[in-house]
Amino acid sequence: MSISAQPADIVERMRAYNELNSPRNIVFSGGLSSPLPNQIRRITIDDSVMFKALFDLVLTDGHAYKRLGELCKGIGSRLSGSDNAERGIVWAVSMLKSYQFDTVFTQSVMVPRWERGEIESVKLYSKVLTNQLKSGKPSDDYNCEAFVEANPKPQKFYPLNACALGGSVGGHIAGTVIVVNSNRALDSMGKAGLLRGKIVLLNLAFDQTLLNTFQAYGGCVSQRVNGAVPCSKYGALAVLVRSMSNRCDLHPHTGVTHYEDSVTKIPMVAVATAVADLLADISIKDPNHRVEIDLNCRTLPDRLSANVIASSVGLQYPEKIIDFGGHFDSWDEGEGAHDDGAGCMHAFEALRLLKALGYTPRHTLRCVFWINEENGLRGGTEYARLAAERGENHIAALESDRGGFVPRGFGVDSAIMPGVKMYQKLLNDYGIGTIEKGGGGADIGPLKKVNPNTAFVSFIPDSQRYFDVHHAETDVFENVNKRELHLGAAAVAAMIYILDQQLE
Ligand SMILES: [Zn+2]
Repeated sequence: MSISAQPADIVERMRAYNELNSPRNIVFSGGLSSPLPNQIRRITIDDSVMFKALFDLVLTDGHAYKRLGELCKGIGSRLSGSDNAERGIVWAVSMLKSYQFDTVFTQSVMVPRWERGEIESVKLYSKVLTNQLKSGKPSDDYNCEAFVEANPKPQKFYPLNACALGGSVGGHIAGTVIVVNSNRALDSMGKAGLLRGKIVLLNLAFDQTLLNTFQAYGGCVSQRVNGAVPCSKYGALAVLVRSMSNRCDLHPHTGVTHYEDSVTKIPMVAVATAVADLLADISIKDPNHRVEIDLNCRTLPDRLSANVIASSVGLQYPEKIIDFGGHFDSWDEGEGAHDDGAGCMHAFEALRLLKALGYTPRHTLRCVFWINEENGLRGGTEYARLAAERGENHIAALESDRGGFVPRGFGVDSAIMPGVKMYQKLLNDYGIGTIEKGGGGADIGPLKKVNPNTAFVSFIPDSQRYFDVHHAETDVFENVNKRELHLGAAAVAAMIYILDQQLE
C-alpha cells in the first residue's frame, strides 16, 4: 500500500519545481538574467504537474468546505440589504485577510432592500379535498404526489407550502384559482377575460427530458420573473407560480419577480411543485374552493453594501486583470450554500491553491464576491462601472454560479477557445473536459459592455441536483458534498492557470 502525498509534500514539491522554473532563473541568449518583468520570457510550466498539484492539494487540504460551513452556519442567508449580508461581508474580509493575499479590499455598492416580513401564509379551503381525505381516497390525478404522501388530515383549511417571490408586494387576497399552463394560454385566457378577479396559477413545469436542467429552468423562469405584469393587466388578484424545480416536493422556491410602475402590483407567490399539482386538480374538481393569501413583505430604502475582492498581483502584467468569482448575496430561504456560497468559495480556494503552491501569476488574479446578483445586479454593475472609470484592463472573467456540484467543464468565449482546447486531454483527465461555446454570467456580464474584449468563462458543474435546492430552504450546507466542492475549486484554479498562461 502506497502512502499518499501529504499537503506539505505537495506544496514543498511545487516550491522546488517553481524555483527551477522561476522567471528569475531564465537565462536569456546574451547570458544575462533578466530582472525586469517586461523582459521576462514566456515560459511553459509543465501543465500536468500544476494540474496534479492543484487537485492533490485541494483533495488533501482543501479549505473551501470548512469556510463554506462557517459562512452558512455562522452567518446564514445573505439577502441584499439584510443585516446578515453585512455580517457576511465583515466575515469575508477578515477570512480573506487571514490568507495574506496581496490585497483584500471592498467596493461600496448601494443595494435594494426587500424583506419577507413575519406574515406569510397561503391557505386552501376545499370541501372536495376534505371529503377525499375523509374517505381515504385522495385524487390520483397528480403527477406529483408529495402533498398526499405527507398524509394531511381532513381539516377546515390546508396551509400550503408557499413563499413570497423576491420583490413581491404584500397584501390580503382571497379568491379562486385558475390554472395557466403556458405563456400562450396566458394570453388567450387573459384576452377571454378568464383571469379577471382570479388568483392565477402559472403552472408551466420543467421539461424533464432536458439533460441540462438550466435549459429546463430557462424554459420556465419567465413566468416567475415576468408573470406579474400580464396577469395584472388581465385583472388577476394575485399570482401563484409553480416552483422552478425538477423535483416533486413540498419546498417552495423563491426568486426575483418584476413589476412595472404603470401596472398595478399584485402579490407574487411561489408554491411548491406538489402544491401546484394539488391546486391544478382541486381548482377543476371543486369550483367552490377558496385560496387566501396573506403577506406582509415589503420594499425598504436602498442600503450601503459592498463587493469583496482579494487579489494576487501579476508579475509580468500587473495591470492586466483576470477576474473569477461568484455572488455573495443569496435568497433568504436556506443558507445560500450552493447559490452561491459555493461559487464564492470556488474563487477563494482557487486563489489560495495557486498561492499555496508558490505559483507566481503573470497577470493580476482577482477573486471577487459580487453583491446583489439575485435581485438587482448592483454589484456586478458597479464593478464594471469602476473598471471603466479607472481604465482597468480586465482580460478575462470567470463566473461560478451553478452550485458546488461535481465539475464537468467550462463555457468559454470563442475568442479563447483554441487556447483552452489545447488543454483538452489534461482537462479530460480530471473529468472537466466539457468545453462549450459561450462563457458568461450575470455578474461578469456588465464587464463586456465596458471592455468587449474581456474573455468570458463560465464554470459548469453537473446540473442534475441544482434545481432541487435552488432558492429554497434546502439550499443548506448539509447538501454540499466536500469532495465535489473541492474538485470544483481545483477546476476553477486550473482554468485560471490556463488563462494566465495563454493570454497576453
Ligand atoms: Zn446564483
